This record gives sequence, structure tokens and C-alpha cells, in this order.
Amino acid sequence: SETGEYPLRVENLRKTFGGIVAVDDASFEVERGTLTGLIGPNGAGKSTTFNLITGMHTPDEGRVLFNGEDITGLPPHRVADKGLVRTFQIARELSEMTVLENMMLAPKHQRGEALWRSVTPGVRDDVVRQEEELLERAWEMLDFFEIDHLAEEYAGNLSGGQRKLLEMARALLTDPDMLLLDEPFAGVNPSLEHRLLEHVHELREQGYTFLLVEHDMDLIMQNCEHVIVMHQGKVLTEGTPSDIKQNEQVVEAYLGG
Ligand code: ADP
Ligand code: MG
Repeated sequence: SETGEYPLRVENLRKTFGGIVAVDDASFEVERGTLTGLIGPNGAGKSTTFNLITGMHTPDEGRVLFNGEDITGLPPHRVADKGLVRTFQIARELSEMTVLENMMLAPKHQRGEALWRSVTPGVRDDVVRQEEELLERAWEMLDFFEIDHLAEEYAGNLSGGQRKLLEMARALLTDPDMLLLDEPFAGVNPSLEHRLLEHVHELREQGYTFLLVEHDMDLIMQNCEHVIVMHQGKVLTEGTPSDIKQNEQVVEAYLGG
């Protein structure tokens, strides 16, 4: 079905802040199992679009559909419950917890919340079993991202790149269908960036869908199969990396700001 092929659909989104039109009638869709890039110069409206999709902001106009369901205006945890998950930066207070403790917190804050709430008081065995399963999956994820040796380390002691790996591992623990990443490589050294990208490609091959918001055009061109370009709040164009590279409007947008 159409919905199956395109889990995420954004229709005529508009968002203003005071007199500033941050997102102006933006529409696009993301195909299942792809790594789709959302690029554009600074101020193009990428982060605002990201925030409209993940429920951090409510649009003035337009809709967000996920797996055919209208999720416009749902709060972030409800959006995450649907399987559309963004990575969260590790907050200051979580820096004082270990990597493993951070992992164990994730599902309670995000998708697993419903599951935790559903446990009837008194059904202790279920709780214990779920905690054990969660722990097992947490270790699997840490192993996958090659940070299992850091499990007992305080999150605050991780390098920028290691934090990004933890943020992604944590997001995956909520068992999403689709991940949204806003500049996940900012402040990450090249070798860790390479590793992070390898993981993203591997996960995409497993069937996860990614929307990657990036300022770095080369990174998107080298890694995404489909690229959406925003400029001044609007979708300027979209297509394959080679389409985009040859598009003079895109070049102008980047040079002209
Ligand atoms: P990008 O992520 O592409 O750099 P943003 O979505 O962050 O762009 O910003 C788009 C425009 O909206 C910019 O002009 C920015 O200054 C403005 N903007 C974004 N968020 C806010 C906000 N919370 N309050 C006021 N203006 C904002
Ligand atoms: Mg941004």
C-alpha cells in the first residue's frame, strides 16, 4: 500500500515564530527502508520541520502522517509510542548516571512507557521478566554500537562521538520503526562519524527508516538515496543525490544563503 511504502508524510506544514516564517507550506514523504536526507542552508527551516514532526512544536497549518495516522500536534512521547523516534541529547542530570543506567531509562521515557503502565500492580514476575529482557536488549545495543565496554562509565565522561552512539543506542531500545536524526555528527571526529554512519547503513538494511537532517551537503550526498532540499522554509526540490548536485537552484541557495 502507499502507506506501507511511505511511513512518513508531511503535508503543507507551516510554522511561524512572531513575524518569522520558519516553515512555509512544506510537503514531502519518506520512503520505508531509506536513508533520506533533509538539507538546506542555515535557517532553511530544517530543525523546525524536525520539531514539527516529532511533536516538539505544533504547526500553524498542515499535517504530519505516520503509517497513515494523523499524528499532528501529539506530544513527543506519544509520537515515540507510534514508533517515530528522535535521538535526545543526554541531559546534564543523566551525565551523572552510567551508560547502562541511561539505557535502562530510555524506554520508560519513550516507547516502553505504555508497556510499563500496562503492568498490573502485583504481577511482579512480569515486571522482573520485562526488566530482564530490557537489560538483555540494552547490552545487545551497547554491543552493536561497540560501547559495551563503557557500560559502567558515567555518561558525562564519554567523548562527543561516544555520546552520539549512546544516544542512538538509547533511541533504538524503544524499538522504533523510524528514526529522525538532527545533525547527529556535529562535534564527532571523522573516525567515529564513519562508524556511526556504518551503523546507520546496517540498520537501514535491517529495515529501519531514517530521516537525517544535516547541514553538511557532502555527507548527505554520499550516504542518502533520497534528498529533500529546504530553503527559506520551503521545499526547494528533492531527488537523488545526482539530481540534487546538478540542480542550479540548490547551488545558488547554498551560496546565496
Ligand atoms: P535550520 O535548522 O535549517 O538551520 P531552523 O528551523 O532552526 O533552521 O530555523 C528556521 C528559521 O526560524 C530561522 O530564521 C530561525 O531563526 C527561526 N526560528 C527557529 N526556531 C525559532 C524559535 N524558537 N523562535 C524564533 N525563531 C525561530
Ligand atoms: Mg538546525
